[in-house]
Amino acid sequence: MYLGTDFTATAAGSVIKRVTCAQCNHEYCYEMARKVTGKSFSALGLANQHSASAAEVRAAERLARSLANSCDPVPCPECGHYQPAMVERLRRTRFPWVGNACVLLFLFPLFASTIIGTSKSIPKDQLPYWLVAPFVASWPLIPLLLLGRAWLNRVIDPDAQSADKRIALGRRLSMTKTEAGRASADS
Ligand SMILES: [Zn+2]
Repeated sequence: MYLGTDFTATAAGSVIKRVTCAQCNHEYCYEMARKVTGKSFSALGLANQHSASAAEVRAAERLARSLANSCDPVPCPECGHYQPAMVERLRRTRFPWVGNACVLLFLFPLFASTIIGTSKSIPKDQLPYWLVAPFVASWPLIPLLLLGRAWLNRVIDPDAQSADKRIALGRRLSMTKTEAGRASADS
């Protein structure tokens, strides 16, 4: 059945981020690149032209928001400190698979019980146990995974790594204000 057409547009860009270190006040810059998509749906294909441009507008808006608000984990090249917003982002973006795993764990017993329910080889008096077993096996794992992720994200401390390594990484990823000025003049 034809319901309509999905339009997806991609927008990519980069920006020079300026940072003042929260620990030592050193000012540094780094280049941050982002690639995002925007979607739009044309019901029954009646508004294809409009939907295609709507997807592009959405992608451009998302890109502008992301470039303005997001950050990359680039430690201070002077003292190695990760800025609070970077730590926040590291915490938010770790373990992205947990969400999908929870959806699968939620759905699995529903499918399993449907199959077990129609099976002829299980004695009638045992059937309730068989039906409940998949739920008991997988649903308790959902809060465990979510709590585990919340706990691991709370204790993560990128500043715990040796200062030398963080400074070296910061020097590799960052640029001075002069270099940043040149880079933005070029583009
Ligand atoms: Zn610093």
